[in-house]
Amino acid sequence: MTAPLIDPFHRAISYLRVSVTDRCDFRCVYCMSENMTFLPKKELLTLEELDRMCSAFVRLGVRKLRITGGEPLVRREIMTFFRAMSRHLQTGALDELTLTTNGSQLAKFAEDLADAGVRRINVSLDTLDQDKFARITRWGRLPQVMKGIDAAQKAGLRVKINTVALKGFNEDELHRLTDWCAERDMDLTFIEVMPMGDIGNEDRIGQYWSLNDLRARLAERSPLTDLPDRTGGPARYVRMESTGQKIGFITPLSHNFCESCNRVRITCTGEIYTCLGQEGHSDLRAPLRASESDAMLDDAIRAAIALKPKGHDFDYSRQQVDGQVSRHMSHTGG
Ligand code: SAM
Ligand code: SF4
Repeated sequence: MTAPLIDPFHRAISYLRVSVTDRCDFRCVYCMSENMTFLPKKELLTLEELDRMCSAFVRLGVRKLRITGGEPLVRREIMTFFRAMSRHLQTGALDELTLTTNGSQLAKFAEDLADAGVRRINVSLDTLDQDKFARITRWGRLPQVMKGIDAAQKAGLRVKINTVALKGFNEDELHRLTDWCAERDMDLTFIEVMPMGDIGNEDRIGQYWSLNDLRARLAERSPLTDLPDRTGGPARYVRMESTGQKIGFITPLSHNFCESCNRVRITCTGEIYTCLGQEGHSDLRAPLRASESDAMLDDAIRAAIALKPKGHDFDYSRQQVDGQVSRHMSHTGG
């Protein structure tokens, strides 16, 4: 038997999030600057290396694998990787294979994803207004994403919408967004904007809309019942009694969720980040490439987990951004 991955604070690591590319066909204003410099392709793990890396984690006890980026569906031949990972679903080693996407390529790939055993996906969408969508994503077009969501639902994928709460941007769409999700039977999760990466001239504090406030506004419209669902992550869920729909809140800035953290992240270059909100990371690409056997890789994974910090410390109070981390969300994957 292989010993499971347990960190120094007795948290079992069962959830791996993997960024398969730092590239994206959008340039969301809170995520990237318009002129991003991307990594040279040779820095990236190949699809075969991604397979080896993820398979090592599955062997060591990871039960849930989320593919992210950048935009995961713009990585060339990414379906080869999804098809390869589906073997772990078939053996029962993995409970869930899923992805977070901006939806732009879903019309093309929804069927293939379903065929590979993906059952649920997260689609990021901050507004239902075409002009605002173009403004917030800079390069994205709403109708293309809508077609993608249609295709995903048609393929039988359960869709959850992730919406970044942005002050002065989508405050006025709160009820429209919740109604739209209820009509289409999609769960909805709001995310507080996090201080990650240089985003050019955008104003972080100006973007921040507290989910406490957002929740209070929802509660003016319908009673909200707290749900016990815990995913080990930063999300808390409520049921909106007027519609029965489930709404999530990801509040890394207002609440501390670290004590139940069961996850680690791998970047597209094979670095492991054991905490989203801290700079500490270790390189897994060198041990992966050093040998065809996985012994060195397994040792490096265990050594990295042994360094997983207790928690993080983002703080927007005092009107300054403390605990900011320099890398972009697209680097570690959101
Ligand atoms: N491109 C895919 C997408 O947009 O869904 C996957 C990667 S993206 C980095 C993952 C999630 O991170 C998205 O839901 C996005 O809205 C969120 N995100 C990006 N930058 C963020 C930030 N600074 N604060 C909070 N969420 C952010
Ligand atoms: Fe691309 Fe996702 Fe970042 Fe938007 S949030 S720029 S879609 S990686």
